[in-house]
Amino acid sequence: MADKTFDLILIGGGQSALACAFFLRRKEIDYIILDDQETCGGSWKQTWESLTLFSPPEHSSLPGWQMPESEGEFPTKEETIDYLCQYEDRYDFPIQRPVKVKSIDKKEGMFTLETTEGQFNSKTVISATGTYKNPFIPEIPGRDKFEGKQLHSSDYRSPEEFKDKKIVIVGEGNSGAQILAEISKVAKTFWSTKEEPQFLPDDVDGRVLFDMASAKYYAEKKGEKYDSTKFNLGNIVMVPSVKEARERDVLHSQGQIQSITKEGVVWEDGSCQKVDVIIWCTGFGYSTGFLENLVSIDHKGKIPTDKTKAKETDGLWLVGYGGWTGFASATLIGVGRYAKQTIKEVSEYLKD
Ligand code: FAD
Repeated sequence: MADKTFDLILIGGGQSALACAFFLRRKEIDYIILDDQETCGGSWKQTWESLTLFSPPEHSSLPGWQMPESEGEFPTKEETIDYLCQYEDRYDFPIQRPVKVKSIDKKEGMFTLETTEGQFNSKTVISATGTYKNPFIPEIPGRDKFEGKQLHSSDYRSPEEFKDKKIVIVGEGNSGAQILAEISKVAKTFWSTKEEPQFLPDDVDGRVLFDMASAKYYAEKKGEKYDSTKFNLGNIVMVPSVKEARERDVLHSQGQIQSITKEGVVWEDGSCQKVDVIIWCTGFGYSTGFLENLVSIDHKGKIPTDKTKAKETDGLWLVGYGGWTGFASATLIGVGRYAKQTIKEVSEYLKD
């Protein structure tokens, strides 16, 4: 493709790229989507088997086409992947897979992308690569000495292999709570959190969080302040598995790990606990390393932006990275409005 110059290249074939592509349908913009996965579904394919969304389908939909009814109250991982695959088929988006973008340079106003399938050229670029490729594990003294198994939540699939083991689950977010909930049924678990875990009220799910995100978005558009501290988006949603774990009385944090030995962990009070496995549910940075020739990137993968637009390079936008590039933009229903605004800006840029 080195002999052709696209108007726009979208990097990443998950929900954020698809939301952008929806708003490109009636535009005369020659674009392509490059995704490093073999098949559709973005990072949903890499999550654990039992993961369900935390909102019903009508609150988990991309622009233009609502997610079909799910079997249960909340769509499963498989139903979500099916929806994303059907969505891209429905609109027949031009997607090439697998194509990994390794680096990007810019000369005389044109971006050159080095990929696993050769060079691609484009006048503009949208990065929609999510976070899953950049798992974060905190530095805790002795971590490299541990002789048991360590894994990040992004590599966790199901509880079977942990049956009858002793396991520390680290992290006070939704991943930590959900993985703890299912593993504690088959193994002896210990929960390590930095802060005391914060649970949302039982009746607060993604619907409420999204309504809050919308109210904030519209208030800010009008130049008004909105108090978004009522419910913290990062707090734990009481999905059925977490409610069930609460009934079993297993949702108790032992506090922080002070250090790690070859056999286990040392808690803040100095007591030791022998364990077989440590599961790090400690979040992600942003998957933006391939942009390092163009912009400055901090340790989390964040680059300077004005909303979704890169500040240091004209013609580059970043969509779907959550609070950084748009409140609730890392959700199916939340990404649409930022995708729409970004495509408007890309069109205007290409016209100039
Ligand atoms: P991704 O889905 O990660 O897609 C990015 C794509 O880009 C991937 O295919 C990736 O392989 C590809 N890629 C990355 N780097 C490159 C590269 N260099 N070159 C080419 N391709 C590349 N969201 C909801 O809406 N509702 C929920 O209920 C919900 N629950 C969640 C629960 C948990 C526990 C977690 C962890 C997340 C949850 N999310 C939920 C969030 C959601 O999973 C992610 O935010 C979402 O997948 C982000 O979509 P994306 O398109 O931005 O990124």
